[in-house]
Amino acid sequence: MNHVLILGAGFGGLELSTRLSDLDGVDVTLIDRSDSFYYGFSKLDVLIGRETRDSVLMSYRDFVKKGVEFRQETVTAIDPSARRVTTNRGTYEADYLVVALGADYQPEATPGFVEDGLEFYTLAGAERLRDELPSITSGRVLIAVLRPPYKCPPAPYEATFLLHEYFVQHGVRDAIEMHFVSPMPAPIPPSPDTSKAILDGFEARGVTYDFGRRIDALDPRRKVAVFADGEERPYDAFIGIPKHRVPDVVEASGLTKDGADGWVHVDPRNLRTPFAGVYAIGDCADAPVPRAGVFAVAEAAVVAEDIAARIRNDESAERFLGQGTCYIEFGGGEVAKVDVDFLSGPAPKAPFTPPSAELLREKYAWAADRRTRWFS
Ligand SMILES: Cc1cc2nc3c(=O)[nH]c(=O)nc-3n(C[C@H](O)[C@H](O)[C@H](O)COP(=O)(O)OP(=O)(O)OC[C@H]3O[C@@H](n4cnc5c(N)ncnc54)[C@H](O)[C@@H]3O)c2cc1C
Repeated sequence: MNHVLILGAGFGGLELSTRLSDLDGVDVTLIDRSDSFYYGFSKLDVLIGRETRDSVLMSYRDFVKKGVEFRQETVTAIDPSARRVTTNRGTYEADYLVVALGADYQPEATPGFVEDGLEFYTLAGAERLRDELPSITSGRVLIAVLRPPYKCPPAPYEATFLLHEYFVQHGVRDAIEMHFVSPMPAPIPPSPDTSKAILDGFEARGVTYDFGRRIDALDPRRKVAVFADGEERPYDAFIGIPKHRVPDVVEASGLTKDGADGWVHVDPRNLRTPFAGVYAIGDCADAPVPRAGVFAVAEAAVVAEDIAARIRNDESAERFLGQGTCYIEFGGGEVAKVDVDFLSGPAPKAPFTPPSAELLREKYAWAADRRTRWFS
């Protein structure tokens, strides 16, 4: 029996466990500190009150797969050379080790943000912001991406469209100034059509914006955001996408040595790390694609094939091509999509399909399919 140890039961870990469950001669241990999974986009649903915490959680009790054992434990140390992992409950050794621990946030990297910033990138943050919304009835709402890379590049724009809609529905939009700031040069740099649609969407809704500019700090006392060039912008409510970073336990393992910007270094074709038998997938890896669940799922498929081939003493023909569909909610019950292809050709391609009610159905059908595949 080959033992595959998967750290993290998010998009990447769930898909990989599901695929390996069909493979003979393999037993899988899947470790996560949480008792349940939820989709990243569910935070938007919670933010505007369409869903609640309880309605979006999927319990790992319902993740039942042949040959896969789920353990709710916290990973405290990883030794990639020995493929040995320590948790709060014990020690594991593996023939193949897959690190799928996602990305953590570092709100303290932006002075003043912990004290005075709001966020919706954690479920607790989305709930807190939802509870704050009724008190935002006038003034300046500043929404800012603090540092790339961040999860799901379209999510901050989706939140802006949905917040605009919320303020309209509550009769306060005319009294609120909405401004968006990002250090990225454009909303979705590899897709000019998508960027244009988002900027057109901002303009149609009276949302002003700054791209290619970075906010470095908040001064909670004066309620101003301070740009890298020293300019200040006043706010009444500041909603930020915090800086992301690799989880501490991953950094301490040495896996980030040689990784781009402190992430785990992988060969983007097969997600192997420089350590024999060790892979990294999803948000924690430095594959040159955005941090998004669709890519974590696609990477899991490639790793499953690679492990299967190595067990057969063979070479996998499967390669990660950086392809996936990102859905973008524009409000009004409409969703657009961008079909990205980062690695199959000489340059990324990312054609855009404009918003429609049909794409809203497509997005939720994709999510329902995954839920059925993993949790039933
Ligand atoms: C607001 C928002 C909207 C989004 N919308 C979309 C979307 O529409 N489409 C899309 O594709 N992506 C979307 N995403 C991004 C998506 O959620 C992530 O990219 C995806 O979850 C990454 O998958 P992953 O497997 O790498 O990590 P995760 O899904 O984050 O899983 C990592 C797992 O590791 C566990 N873990 C971490 N540390 C430890 C430890 N020490 N011990 C044990 N367990 C640990 C965590 O509990 C977690 O379950 C969105 C994200 C946000 C924030």
